[in-house]
Amino acid sequence: MRPTYIEINLSAIRHNLEEVRQAVGPERRILAPVKANAYGHGMLQVARTALEAGASMLGVAYLDEAVALRQAGIGAPILIFGSELPENAPEIVHWGLRATLCTYELAKALSQAAVRLRRNAVVHIKVDTGMGRIGLKVEEIREFLRRILELPGIVVEGIYTHFATADGSGDGEFALAQMEHFRRVVSQLRKEGMELPIAHAANSAAVLRFPSAHLDMVRPGIMLYGLEPFPGASYLADIRPAMTLKSRIVFLKEVPPGASVSYGRTFVAGRRTRIATVPIGYGDGYPRALSNRGKALVRGKRARIVGNICMDQLMLDVTHVEGVRVGDEVVLIGEQGDERITAEELASLAGTINYEIVTSLNGRIPRVYKD
Ligand SMILES: *Cc1c(COP(=O)(O)O)cnc(C)c1O
Repeated sequence: MRPTYIEINLSAIRHNLEEVRQAVGPERRILAPVKANAYGHGMLQVARTALEAGASMLGVAYLDEAVALRQAGIGAPILIFGSELPENAPEIVHWGLRATLCTYELAKALSQAAVRLRRNAVVHIKVDTGMGRIGLKVEEIREFLRRILELPGIVVEGIYTHFATADGSGDGEFALAQMEHFRRVVSQLRKEGMELPIAHAANSAAVLRFPSAHLDMVRPGIMLYGLEPFPGASYLADIRPAMTLKSRIVFLKEVPPGASVSYGRTFVAGRRTRIATVPIGYGDGYPRALSNRGKALVRGKRARIVGNICMDQLMLDVTHVEGVRVGDEVVLIGEQGDERITAEELASLAGTINYEIVTSLNGRIPRVYKD
């Protein structure tokens, strides 16, 4: 078998959920976002672990992801974050999924499916308080609720919003303004007798930065995986990365000064250089943007990526690594000896965010679970 794999430490995920619990207190529900293959960590195993550790709901982006969870035997409540097209309503109701609702067309289709299947369609109303992605405007909510509550089979279980800047870009003022809009509309509706059992707003960043946003349920994703929702977040909670990305050296050579490495000859050796080839590339979702920038660990030492990253292989300069051999372990994300390479470090070298680094690692890399 190819020596490249991702190791997922499920106890780290359990620990991180416990950290969320510490931050939000015993009464609040925790929804575990497992969209995008659980941020690259493996949807099923993470879902099971999070539920065992006390999450009461799962969150996915699309219907397909929710159906995959159901087909694997997961019966827990699942909220679909995206706005689904009306044609998907029968499947949503059939699988007993919670839909995010912000269009009347979807409400009508869900109602029809619910009546036909003699079940309820459970929905969470989405309010756009400033994210500008999906959701009803604050001033539209009351009329919308009035209309959909006339539809048979629709049960409104929740109402929620999503922050645009909780990650700390800016001074938090915008996020707090979003929060205020949301709290005002929810408390007004409740005062008028509208039943809205679960109001929720907080992603990971808001779990850590805005206790006033914890409400009835929180939706921490990135933090569950031990990654920072914003720089410095790990000072606010003891979060532990769950993912290690490993491979092994499959080929070693020495090249003379002037020799080039890989496509495009973007690296030319300035001295005698020992080059190691590692079987991982952009075809696995390892970013090509890390060409001549990324680092990996070999025998406890940092080694830099030289030349352009290929689809299936990349090359490291291991001239300074004593005793290096074919078969040596290479850690691309994670710890080895006293050294550590984080998704955050790679993200900053590649000009992206840690979320994209881990979610890009695709199904070609096997996941191995340890507990
Ligand atoms: C992805 C997502 C989350 C989780 O966000 P993190 O920043 O990973 O904590 C929460 N809510 C919604 C609606 C999402 O799409």
